[in-house]
Amino acid sequence: MFEDITKGLNEPQAQAVLHTEGPLMIIAGAGSGKTRVLTQRTAHLIRKGVDPFSILLLTFTNKAAGEMRARIEKVVGTDARGIWMGTFHSVFAKILRFEAKAMGYTSDFSIYDTDDSKSLLKTIIKERGLDDKIYKPNVVFNRISGAKNRLVSAEAYIADPIIQADDAAARLPEIGRLYKLYVDRCFKANAMDFDDLLYNTNVLFRDFPAILNKYQHRYKYVMVDEFQDTNVSQYLITRKLAAIHENICVVGDDAQSIYAFRGANIQNILNFEKDYPDLTTIRLEQNYRSTKVIVEAANSVIARNKRQLRKEVFTENEGGNLIEVIKAGSDVEEGRLVSTSLFEEKLNHGLSNNDFAILYRTNSQSRAFEESLRKLNIKYRIVGGLSFYQRREIKDLLAYLRFTLNQSDEEAFKRIINLPKRGIGDQTIAKITVTAAEQGLPLWDIVANIQQYNAGRSGVAIEGFSDLIKSFKLLVDTKDAYEVASHVAKASGVLKELYDDKTVEGLSRYENVQELLNSIKQFVDNPENEDKSLGAFLQTVSLLTNADQEDEDGDNDRVTLMTIHQAKGLEYKVVYIVGLEEDLFPSQMMLQSSEDLEEERRLFYVAITRAEKRLYLSYAETRYQYGRLKPCEPSRFMDEIDEKYVRVSRQAARRMSESQRNTDRPTPAAFLRNVANRAAQNGGSQASKTPPTRSGAASTHVPSSDFKASDPRKLASGQRVEHQKFGFGVVKLISTDQNGAKAVIHFDTQGEKTLLLSFAKLRII
Ligand code: ATP
Ligand code: MG
Repeated sequence: MFEDITKGLNEPQAQAVLHTEGPLMIIAGAGSGKTRVLTQRTAHLIRKGVDPFSILLLTFTNKAAGEMRARIEKVVGTDARGIWMGTFHSVFAKILRFEAKAMGYTSDFSIYDTDDSKSLLKTIIKERGLDDKIYKPNVVFNRISGAKNRLVSAEAYIADPIIQADDAAARLPEIGRLYKLYVDRCFKANAMDFDDLLYNTNVLFRDFPAILNKYQHRYKYVMVDEFQDTNVSQYLITRKLAAIHENICVVGDDAQSIYAFRGANIQNILNFEKDYPDLTTIRLEQNYRSTKVIVEAANSVIARNKRQLRKEVFTENEGGNLIEVIKAGSDVEEGRLVSTSLFEEKLNHGLSNNDFAILYRTNSQSRAFEESLRKLNIKYRIVGGLSFYQRREIKDLLAYLRFTLNQSDEEAFKRIINLPKRGIGDQTIAKITVTAAEQGLPLWDIVANIQQYNAGRSGVAIEGFSDLIKSFKLLVDTKDAYEVASHVAKASGVLKELYDDKTVEGLSRYENVQELLNSIKQFVDNPENEDKSLGAFLQTVSLLTNADQEDEDGDNDRVTLMTIHQAKGLEYKVVYIVGLEEDLFPSQMMLQSSEDLEEERRLFYVAITRAEKRLYLSYAETRYQYGRLKPCEPSRFMDEIDEKYVRVSRQAARRMSESQRNTDRPTPAAFLRNVANRAAQNGGSQASKTPPTRSGAASTHVPSSDFKASDPRKLASGQRVEHQKFGFGVVKLISTDQNGAKAVIHFDTQGEKTLLLSFAKLRII
């Protein structure tokens, strides 16, 4: 009966899919089908008659959840909609919304994003008369966040002598008190920050056994993807939820654990074996994602880590191309070389933009790649940049909506009280928030009864504001999210102010707000969303991560630029890992111990294993950092890849031979010499047994005699040429711009194409 559910799976994968009762752990290497097993297993459960509402599936991003849901839906139809599926944060926010009363919140609590949290901390730091240059909101926020993730309350923080000694040593003895004030203020604002969503769920389940019991009975099957990156707080909740049925299945790879700085720990995997003595463990060892070269190169890197579980990873996929190293003189040149290599890949292999990812260690590295991709007219998306929902005008309208729902929301209040300008100054605003805090009153009590306070000239304006909010509140219970939001956008004056601003920026802000309204309409019209209230919409929006966003112009064929952390679980045909320099990757900031180096190495392992077909590594010899041009050393990680899998790219080889000829220039780094020697020894040959393809041979550093990157001086219009992919044609026009020389060529069968001559491999005939 269940034959087809395991079709196309290997033996241990099928075993994992069919093993539904009792605790199960799948520990397996990258690309071995862990996520695929979870998807199939869920489909299998539903086919077996398990109620989708009793399945809890925790994933790393909302996007991953969405993709899994779509795949499950293909097998079981709309039943898939009932599954409790999402990130830890989104699933727990949903539970907290149902159970908010028990914790003293209302179900309309706000979710503070990191900006809100830091802004509140800044206010508190100032109110305490502390210097925010010493008590940097960022630092204070991170300490509080760390404490919450270890489940240390503010009271416990203050009472803990070790923590106190630590803070004293860091000359930040007030952090405990700031933590306490921050927690109180969030609570009064009926707001939770991101960490609270986990922390409060733990408290809820600890203090309210009846509530815990309800969910324990509800979730008969619990599954967790990327288990290696769950922190203590997440693990405790998961374990508690699965305590009655014990049908818990976790999948992970210790070699991909990359969130130690957020409190995640390989220890989870080890604890799991202790916590569930009758655990079944399944290992998946076959990688289906990548070529042999990529799998074995990744193995050779991770083998250097001492702290790891025994695990083999092999593949039956083709050998594939060698990994190429691209060396650039500067970060700008790195951008250019990587983009042009990408351009060439597209052309030579008929790929689309979606097939590519450029991965870097930190977000700030994206700029050079953006510029060069733009010059080549290649569309890209940046995951993790300033997202749509972080834009000022969007946050403004969202703040109005938040305050309409929750009049204790202090951060939303500060954003909108004087927007559009009502002549209410910062001092008045501070007075209101301080009075509320001092008297233990909700903000709204003061705003709504401003006549009773001595608010001077601002009194009338505040009254106008409170009348406005009162009129919005009347809509919330009877109208859907879209009706409320479009009314608020108009009546608040937000839309009008942007409409009146006829500058280019003003226009684009106005369009953005319209776009937000469109997205609310979509939310309301989506049959999968049963709850169409403003509250339900706001919760979804608050928990969107950058990785979840759709492209605004609907064109989804884009190269993806992102940090390696964001790339977890994803796969691309061609991957560029850039900025492979000492101090940048491994990151100097992270290197305090050999354990830190191992974590950076795992990050490198994650990056390598995203690639399906081809992998490029690039680095620059100089880079602007903190406003200064600095020389850079190639990363030690490149040397850690078994040399038989690597070769220097054509561009790098060309650059190197130039610098060897020209004695005035610095000699290339020892690393590059090594790699070049290796490549020469290998004769640029493929590591696989498969014969090199024509294009493969042509792009090795040993040039093919037939096709060469064309020298514009030897080409003339009217000349007949042959291109390795497009066949025969006639040169129409040669021109040059900042990207180099280009030729317009009319091919006999493919029509007219414009080719960059430094890449187009042409044979003059
Ligand atoms: P990661 O560790 O990166 O999260 P993973 O172990 O979750 O990887 P998946 O993403 O599930 O791996 O699978 C990797 C690729 O291999 C996917 O494209 C998947 O469809 C494919 N795959 C998995 N199992 C099989 C199989 N038995 N036959 C063919 N392809 C498979
Ligand atoms: Mg996966």
